[in-house]
Order: sequence, then C-alpha cells, then structure tokens
Amino acid sequence: MGESALEKKLLLKKESAWTKFSEQERKMAFTMGDNYKVFLDAVKTEREAVKEIIKRAKAKGFEDIAKSKELSYGDKVYFVFKEKAVALIVIGKEGLETGLNVTGAHIDSPRLDLKPTPLYEDSSLALFKTRPYGGVKYYQWANVPLALHGVIVKKDGTKIDFVIGENEKDPVFVIGDLLPHLSRKQDAERKAKDTLKGEELNVIVGGIPIDDKDAKQKVKLAVMNILNTSHGLIEEDLASAEIEVVPATKAKDVGFDRSMIGSYGQDDRSCAFSQLNAIMGVQKPKRTCLALFVDKEEIGSTGNTGAQSFILENIVREIISRSKNKDYSAVKIALQNSKALSADVTAGVNPTFKDAHDEKNAIYIGHGIAIDPLVKTGASAEYLGEIRKLWNDKKVPWQIGELGKIDLGGGGTVAMFFSKYGLDIIDAGIPLISMHSPFEISSKADIFSAYKAYLVFLSS
Ligand code: MN
Ligand code: MN
Repeated sequence: MGESALEKKLLLKKESAWTKFSEQERKMAFTMGDNYKVFLDAVKTEREAVKEIIKRAKAKGFEDIAKSKELSYGDKVYFVFKEKAVALIVIGKEGLETGLNVTGAHIDSPRLDLKPTPLYEDSSLALFKTRPYGGVKYYQWANVPLALHGVIVKKDGTKIDFVIGENEKDPVFVIGDLLPHLSRKQDAERKAKDTLKGEELNVIVGGIPIDDKDAKQKVKLAVMNILNTSHGLIEEDLASAEIEVVPATKAKDVGFDRSMIGSYGQDDRSCAFSQLNAIMGVQKPKRTCLALFVDKEEIGSTGNTGAQSFILENIVREIISRSKNKDYSAVKIALQNSKALSADVTAGVNPTFKDAHDEKNAIYIGHGIAIDPLVKTGASAEYLGEIRKLWNDKKVPWQIGELGKIDLGGGGTVAMFFSKYGLDIIDAGIPLISMHSPFEISSKADIFSAYKAYLVFLSS
C-alpha cells in the first residue's frame, strides 16, 4: 500500500527518522551514539557534567569568560557557576539588543542523596540512609549496583572529590529487596508505588565488625575506619557533603540493530550532549548563541544553580561587561528579543504501556526531536511556525506531540522560568522510554536529530 499523492500533499506523516536519513547521516548518528555513551559514563552528577562540558568545549577553543577582557564577533567563551551550572557562548555579529539564540538543558538527574548523617548499623550490617532527589519510583532502585559520587568538605575546610563504584575493581553498593518467598504481606498491603517506601531506600555499605572490644557499633565503626584510612574522613565530615547515589552501570547499545542507547541519566544529559555538540559546531553566527546547562530542574529549578535563579540575566550581564558598549539596560531587551529552545526530554511511547498516551498526539523514539508545545508555557503559533519552517528547510527530522494523556499527570521544564523575560520558547527534546529509571532508553536517531535541530537553530 503506497501513499496517495493527495495524502502526501495534505496529511502529516508520522514516520521513523531512520528512513529519512541519508546513508551518511545514519553513520553519523551511530558515531555520535558511541561518543554519547562515553559522555554518559563520564557524567553521573551535575558537577561531573560541568567538568566534562568544559573539557570538551576547551578542546574546541572555548575560553573562560572570567579570563577574557573584551569579546568580539566569533569569540567562544564559557561561564561556570558554582561548579553546577555552565553556559557556552559564541558571540554573534549582531548586537545583543537584537536578542540571543538560547538552548537550555539541565544536567541534574533523578537520584538518591545521602542524608546528613547517613551511616548507621543494623542487623550486623552498615547502611546509608538516603533521600530521593527528583521523581523517583523507589522500587526501581532496589537490586541495582550503585555508585557514590560527590564532594566532601572536611573538618579543616579542604574539599575532596569522592567517587566509588565506577572502576572495574571498585566495590558497589545496593539497596536490598524483600524476597518473593516472604512478600505475601507486602504484595497484599502495599500499592505498587509503595513497594519500597522512602525510608526503605537504605544502601548496604559494609558487614565486617571492627576488632575493638569496647566499641558499640562495630560494623559502622569499621566502615568509618575504612573511610578514614582511604579519605581521612570522620563521621561529621559527611554533614558537609553532597554525595549522590547513582547506578554504577555503564551506557550500552540496545537492540540487535544497536539503534538505541540504554543508560542512567539521559534525562536530561541526552539534550545536554546534543546542545553541547551543536554549540561547539557553531561558527561566526548572526546572533549571539548561548547553550545553558542548569542544575536542579528535577526538583523544580530551585536553588542558586537552577533556572529560577538570575543565571540567565547574569550571563547576559557578563557578556555586556566585556563588550565595547557597556549598556547594562540592554539586559532585559536582549532577553526579551531572544529565541529559545527548552532542550529537555519527553516521554516516548512504550509499546507495553501505550495506553498512557493519546495515540493521536503521542511521541515515538526514533522519530526525531520532539516538540511539546503545551508544557506549561503554551508556545505561540508564530514561533512554532518559525521553528517548523527552519527544521523543514534544513531537513531535520522532528515530531510534535504531548507527554501523555491529560488526566494521568504531567511534568514541567525550564521553559516556564525563561519565558518570564518575554522571550519565545518551546520545549524541544529527545524522547525516552523508561524516563527517570536507572536505565532510560533513547534512540540514536533522536540524539542526532536533536544535535542537528539545535545547531541550525543556534546558527539561524
Ligand atoms: Mn528533564
Ligand atoms: Mn526529569
């Protein structure tokens, strides 16, 4: 059954991006997929994302804005904030008052954080108490090998990086589950959501008691003793720390055809990776380009490194302070005239649970970058028309739809916080299956489509 000429002319076609790619583009999608896996494995926290983004950007000629005196057309700089948010900027030909082209992704992901005094002993084991960060289905985190990533500020004020569980020979950690043999009461009494409860997200970290006859909590003390030997830590040091508990697993190809990638942290490091590659590919743009990587999206874009802070304004101010014309009153007008894409993931249809979506407005992995125009901001017809035309002209595979059925829930993105400046913004990102799980699934076609989409947008 072919497509009638009239159908082709009049109807919107929903189809795989793979069939639209040239042979060359297919190869590029696979090559980019390999690079994406390396990125994901290097980046399990927002701080690690900032480091990796700067490393990659420096290799492409970006310099620290703090070290540059005056910026001119074509200059490439980065702005880093509190080690948890970063922006890459390419100075355009036009003045800032005509606006910037902005893409914004977030580099924090759902996870478990260690509580302020996490270490305790129970039943001859040592464990860490944790607190979920972002939308976590608790049961998904049991029986998964876990790693610890973060920073600790010690008693004397020195800061150390703390990462255990990623190297081949490193130990991992785990949240224990209840065996099916003894689950009858749990099965009968708990709803799926409570299969594991918040206070049951306890990570097993040790099991040998210390040889100290006067000690009360011998296993706990033994673990603290190991940490003291390896990192010079005392228990109180864990109070001034940010330790994230994340899956210790690596990114892998998924499927016989290797068309997909499975990994922790793809919300939203998939869009972060695509926009990073996009801005690194921008040369001498018409308008100043800004790729912003922010923190705290998963808990509502709060905090001094989230999108609700003044970070966007402050970056524009930084650029102005290094421009010939130091007119700070241009900040608001520059932002108002800006055009933006909120580069965040959305839900792709999982065939097993397609009932969660309105099939007529669903988004599919492998169909290209997905626009979700209604995520709390309500994009204008004019701006949607502009973006659609741009991507059609440049042959970027894209799709449009919604996260899921109206009555089932929903989500937010940074778009609602940036739109307050009056700039045009829509949500356009990569669809995932199993979003927020320890092993989210993306399509290499969408990683590549998003890269192309962000590149032509920034360059426009
Ligand atoms: Mn997200
Ligand atoms: Mn999310």
